[in-house]
Amino acid sequence: MATHDAIVIGGGVSGATLAWHAARAGRKVLWAEKSERLGGCMRTVRTPEGFWFELGAHTCYNSYGALLEVLEGLGLLGELQARGKPYMRFLDAGGLVPGANMGALFRLLDKWELLRSLPRLVGARQEGETVYSHYSRLVGRGNYGRVLGPILSAVPSQNADAFPADMLFKKRARRKDVMRSFTLKRGLATIAEAVGAAPGVEVRLGAEALRLRQVAGGFRVELSSGEALEAPVVGLAVTPAAASSLLREVAPEAAGLAARVREAVVETVGFAVPVARVSHLPPATFLIPLDDVFHSVVTRDPVPDPAWRGFAFHFRPGLPFEERLQRAAAVLGLAPGDLTAVTERRTVLPSPVLGHQRLVADLDRALVGSRVALTGNWFAGLSLEDCAQRSRAEWARVAG
Ligand SMILES: Cc1cc2nc3c(=O)[nH]c(=O)nc-3n(C[C@H](O)[C@H](O)[C@H](O)COP(=O)(O)OP(=O)(O)OC[C@H]3O[C@@H](n4cnc5c(N)ncnc54)[C@H](O)[C@@H]3O)c2cc1C
Repeated sequence: MATHDAIVIGGGVSGATLAWHAARAGRKVLWAEKSERLGGCMRTVRTPEGFWFELGAHTCYNSYGALLEVLEGLGLLGELQARGKPYMRFLDAGGLVPGANMGALFRLLDKWELLRSLPRLVGARQEGETVYSHYSRLVGRGNYGRVLGPILSAVPSQNADAFPADMLFKKRARRKDVMRSFTLKRGLATIAEAVGAAPGVEVRLGAEALRLRQVAGGFRVELSSGEALEAPVVGLAVTPAAASSLLREVAPEAAGLAARVREAVVETVGFAVPVARVSHLPPATFLIPLDDVFHSVVTRDPVPDPAWRGFAFHFRPGLPFEERLQRAAAVLGLAPGDLTAVTERRTVLPSPVLGHQRLVADLDRALVGSRVALTGNWFAGLSLEDCAQRSRAEWARVAG
C-alpha cells in the first residue's frame, strides 16, 4: 500500500524544488536525505555568534525565475538579502595581484597575444566547442593556460577545459521586481529548510535510499534506516552515480546512460575570522589563484558583517585536511589556530563533456512513460536555476 503520493530522494535544491512542486499540487511527499541536514550544496554554516557563511552555493540572480517561483511560493521573498558589488581578485605566486575585476584581469593578460587573438572574436560560436577550444581561441593559448583557464575552472570548482562552452554561462530573462544578485538573510540553506517545513512535506534525515523497485501501483524505496516506503511517483535528485544505481531495476537503459556522466570532487574548507585579524585583505568576493592547490576562495564579504569575515576554500581533491587548513590560513597570513567555526565538506559535482546534451536527450527518451522524475545539476547546467528548472519540468512530466 502506498505510504505517500510521492517520494523524493536527495535533499539539495533539486530535491527541494521537486518536493515543493509536488506539495504545492496537494501531494503528500516524503523527502529523504542521506546526510543529517537538508540543502546539499546549499550548505550554510551558522556560528553561535549569529554569523553565517557558505561552503557551497552563495549567489542567486534575478534571472533565476524557476527558483524565484519557489521562493515566492514559500513566502521567502521578504528574506532576500542583496549582495554587494562583486570584487574578483587574483593570487599570483601566493600574493594578491593589485586591483580587482577587469582591471586586474587585464593586467595579468599578455596584451600582444590578446591583440593577435581579437579578430577571432568575430563570428565565434560556443556550440560544439569546449571551454578550452572556445576561450583559448578568444584570448590566445598562453593567456588561457595562465589566466583565463584558472578563472573559468573556479566557476564549477573543477578543471573546466573539457566542459561544453555553452553550459558555463547562460543568458536568461531577468525579473525587474527582484534585486539583481541576492542570497537569503540566514544563508541559502534556508531554502531547503523552508521546503522541509512546508505543509505536505515529511522529511527523513540520515536516510540513504539503497534500492528502488517497481511494485503494484508504483515504487518501493528501501532506506538505510530499514524503512521501506511506497508511492506512485518517485523523484531522484542525487548525483549521476547514485541515480544510476537506484535506476538499475526500474529503468535499466536510463541507469546505463546516467552512469556515463562523469563526476568531479571538490573538497572545501570554510571558516570565520574576526574582521580585525584580516584587515590587510581588501574586500573580495572571490579570490582566484592562477596556480595553487585550490580552485577558488568564496567569501561572505558581499554581505558584510561588523565582527566577522567568512571564507570557503574550494580545494582540488586528495590533500589531507590538515594541509588544506594550513594552506588556507597561510593565504590569509594567519595560523590554523586563528580560524573559527572550521568546517569541511566533500562535494561530488558533474563533469559534463561535449555530447552531454545528446546524452540528456537520450535519458529523457528512456524515461518517457515512466513515473520516475530524474533531476539534479547534471542536465542543462550546474546552477541552482538549472536545477529548479529541471525539477519543475520533471514534476510536470510525471504528474501529467
Ligand atoms: C562550491 C560551490 C559553489 C556553488 N556556487 C553556486 C552559486 O553561487 N550559484 C549557483 O546557482 N550555483 C552554485 N553552485 C552549483 C549548485 O550549488 C549545485 O549545482 C546545486 O546546488 C546542486 O543541487 P542538487 O540538489 O542537484 O545536488 P546536491 O546539492 O548535491 O544534493 C544532492 C543530495 O542528495 C543526497 N543523496 C545522494 N545520494 C542519496 C541517496 N542514495 N539517498 C538519499 N540522499 C542522497 C546528498 O547527500 C545531497 O544532499 C555551486 C556549487 C558548489 C559546489
